[in-house]
Amino acid sequence: MSVHKGGFSASVNAMYDRAVALMDLSPGLTEKIRVCNATYTVRFGVRLRGAIHTFTGYRSVHSEHMEPVKGGIRYSLAVNQDEVEALAALMTYKCALVETPFGGSKGGLCIDPTQWEPHELEQITRRFAYELIKRDMINPAQNVPAPDMGTGEREMAWISDQYQRMNTTDINGRACVTGKPLNAGGIAGRIEATGRGVQYALREFFRHPEDMKIAGLSGSLEGKRIVVQGLGNVGFHAASFLSREDGAKIVAVIERDGAVHSDDGIDVDELHMHIRENGGVKGFPGASFEAEGAKLLEADCDILIPAALEGVIHEGNAARVTAPLIIEAANGPVTAEADAILRKRGCVIIPDMYANAGGVTVSYFEWVKNLSHIRFGRMERRAEEARHQVLVNELERLSKNKEVAWTLSDNFKRDYLRGAGELELVRSGLDDTMRSAYGAMREVWHARDEVADLRTAGFLVSISRIAASYQAKGL
Ligand code: NAD
Repeated sequence: MSVHKGGFSASVNAMYDRAVALMDLSPGLTEKIRVCNATYTVRFGVRLRGAIHTFTGYRSVHSEHMEPVKGGIRYSLAVNQDEVEALAALMTYKCALVETPFGGSKGGLCIDPTQWEPHELEQITRRFAYELIKRDMINPAQNVPAPDMGTGEREMAWISDQYQRMNTTDINGRACVTGKPLNAGGIAGRIEATGRGVQYALREFFRHPEDMKIAGLSGSLEGKRIVVQGLGNVGFHAASFLSREDGAKIVAVIERDGAVHSDDGIDVDELHMHIRENGGVKGFPGASFEAEGAKLLEADCDILIPAALEGVIHEGNAARVTAPLIIEAANGPVTAEADAILRKRGCVIIPDMYANAGGVTVSYFEWVKNLSHIRFGRMERRAEEARHQVLVNELERLSKNKEVAWTLSDNFKRDYLRGAGELELVRSGLDDTMRSAYGAMREVWHARDEVADLRTAGFLVSISRIAASYQAKGL
């Protein structure tokens, strides 16, 4: 369904070229960073339902300036080499921008996961993982996958288990993949991480009145009208957090079977349940249904969040997209041609390499947790609480000596005394990452006139870091 001219990779490369032209990089290094290092294609057979079925999978490594390389595994019938390579390139730029110490990679399997029973999917996943593991394309030190479209915790648990069966003495085996369930070496807050990152990115954007002004926006997230495309892992969590915690209003949700729209706002948690029960958004009470869902990308709103797949805003519809602010929760939702049209109109785009980096950021924390073999906060939490208790005791003792006695409220004591557990630490690390990466981008955006947009700024930050890493290696 890609509508990028010349393909998804060509679109990512066109954006890269636009940015790198503003840098003083040698043509050799420019080319080295742009190209995809290697793509492995595997075809394997699995006996299912009394017949042998052949599946095609890919694992692409874009850049190994840092290892392991990192990137999700996607299950979709649309998976192809060009898509996997484009997504691997975006992983390289993303990891550099948010300072996760990884190179870029991506994998995919041509499969419609809804057509197979869970036990069949397990057989297929284990066989795909076996093919990649035996070639070190899944390995805690070299290549660490994660979930992407069509995959989640369940598939990551199968992959992790498969690796550990094949490498029984590798004490770091669990670090071969991230996005695992908590009971299989996962980390608190990983499932929600990408959506949470989108929320933190928007909060950070709304902390900068000058940036809001460029988009023609003001105020806070409270009451902002949002259109979301794709209510999957990323889209659902982003929409749910933004509406429940920041007071934003989700006015339309676009899904596979169409879109629902309501000026009064949609309860995304209820809609999510409705999709689970009915297979689509159609029939959701209190909202109007539009069979041609993509039309709603053009709806009047303050913020558009494409969170489904690439190439949805293209040369054909970009001129009709009126949102002043687009945050790319999906990878590559805006083609290079559409990007030019939107920029000309003054639309601010918070680019994918930053906007959806919450996933890889928390994956990084999970990988570190697996390598250190201890839950975050386990050593410090009670010590922190004990130290806070000392302060509370002292304040209460002092209050007794005053003429007018005062006390600390129970709510204050509960919040203040609680030491940070893993989830709080993960959220803190994610928030810090999203704030600093935005700071790095906006500094370049505002410092140089020729840097007209956040995407170019993001590329400049990440390319200069990747270049420095290649240069340090003597390349
Ligand atoms: P997902 O499979 O959980 O959800 C995708 C959603 O989009 C589903 O609800 C699906 O029905 C919907 N969808 C698919 N095609 C559509 C169409 N044509 N129109 C409208 N809706 C459609 O996938 P996800 O993990 O949420 O990933 C979504 C995007 O975010 C992808 O671009 C992915 O690469 C990117 N991303 C995901 C993560 C992650 O941690 N999962 C991290 C970074 C980036």
